[in-house]
Amino acid sequence: MYFAILMKKANASHDITVYERNGPDDTFGWGVVFSGKTLANLRAADEESHAAITRAFAAWDNVDVVHGEEKISIHGNSFSGIARLQLLKILQQRCQELGVEVKFRTEIPEMETLRNSCDLLVAADGVNSTARKQYSDQFRPSLDIRPNRYIWYGTNKLFHGLTLTFRENEAGVFAAHSYKFNQTTSTFIIECDPETWNPAGFSAMSETATREYLERVFAADLQGEPLLSNNSKWINFLLVKNEKWFFENAVLIGDALHTAHFSIGSGTKLALEDAIALFECFQETGTIGDGLVRFESTRKPVIEAYQAAAFDSMRWFENAREYMHLSAIELAFALMTRSGRVDYDGLKRRDPEFIARYEARAGVSSER
Ligand SMILES: Cc1cc2nc3c(=O)[nH]c(=O)nc-3n(C[C@H](O)[C@H](O)[C@H](O)COP(=O)(O)OP(=O)(O)OC[C@H]3O[C@@H](n4cnc5c(N)ncnc54)[C@H](O)[C@@H]3O)c2cc1C
Repeated sequence: MYFAILMKKANASHDITVYERNGPDDTFGWGVVFSGKTLANLRAADEESHAAITRAFAAWDNVDVVHGEEKISIHGNSFSGIARLQLLKILQQRCQELGVEVKFRTEIPEMETLRNSCDLLVAADGVNSTARKQYSDQFRPSLDIRPNRYIWYGTNKLFHGLTLTFRENEAGVFAAHSYKFNQTTSTFIIECDPETWNPAGFSAMSETATREYLERVFAADLQGEPLLSNNSKWINFLLVKNEKWFFENAVLIGDALHTAHFSIGSGTKLALEDAIALFECFQETGTIGDGLVRFESTRKPVIEAYQAAAFDSMRWFENAREYMHLSAIELAFALMTRSGRVDYDGLKRRDPEFIARYEARAGVSSER
């Protein structure tokens, strides 16, 4: 939808149709989170949707790390959360205003007929992309099913800030990624390694029993608020890459093309920025063939750098049990520096007080 908005806005004579198997109000999951930089990119691309998105936002600057009895806050970060459904509604509205046709409840089971009927097929069909499967000889995807499982809940307990909570029980270690995304609701994603998931017995547990089990694990954090399910199920994270990004007149964008672990919070950001990059490549080159070549050659290095950072972050969570012996402040430092995108000096600039506490606890010298 975002790519369609940008193309139609640039030239109203473009004839663009979006096909969506779901209805306009169906969505999985709860909220998504964006960084300040993503918002600047969205503003530059389309002020109208940016204004609607930021009106609907919950913004914060802290990452909170909860371990044992302690909560450590690290300030100086810039994040915002929005309900996934609300974001979709804003994009749907913008499509309507500009005259992009969105055909809901329309499954595309087979891409070739559609591809032959249009100048350009942009397959933004998600992590289980039909286009990627049907044209796998062309795109040459690699799919890596990761060992950790996660489950995406909501809750009315409000977590002000991106809150990473670690809890242990007899089965093992659970990590929750939570943040408020509107006045009443937070996203609450729980993940655990197979060494925890198997002994906990989730494979034989009903959805209700699973939810109740996890409410007990995070009882101190949820403070009596239930976990809210939206057809929530355990999933293994799937790491998607593609050797080729396009062929002839077909191109992949978003999760169909690449995934990045949710602990770096940027799957939706990357999908939207793909749309911006693809649009700009067409503006700059003026032809579909040249635009697609430029898209792959300029965007791929950016995505590879993101995926590398997200990979380190994902591995950290896969190995979270190895960090549980640390004090809360040491754990917070390890977490903040996990993907290599933030280092000691960067943290010191963001939140000198946090670094002072870390040094005092860990006995680290400030002479670096
Ligand atoms: C647990 C979890 C937490 C996440 N948290 C965040 C977060 O905090 N921030 C963030 O930025 N991202 C987050 N993400 C990632 C984010 O959800 C995805 O990266 C993002 O939705 C990708 O957008 P997309 O448009 O590529 O794919 P999708 O959002 O998956 O959209 C694809 C669409 O195509 C439709 N479709 C698919 N196949 C067909 C077909 N054959 N015919 C018709 N329609 C079809 C689907 O119905 C769907 O609506 C999270 C992901 C997970 C799993």
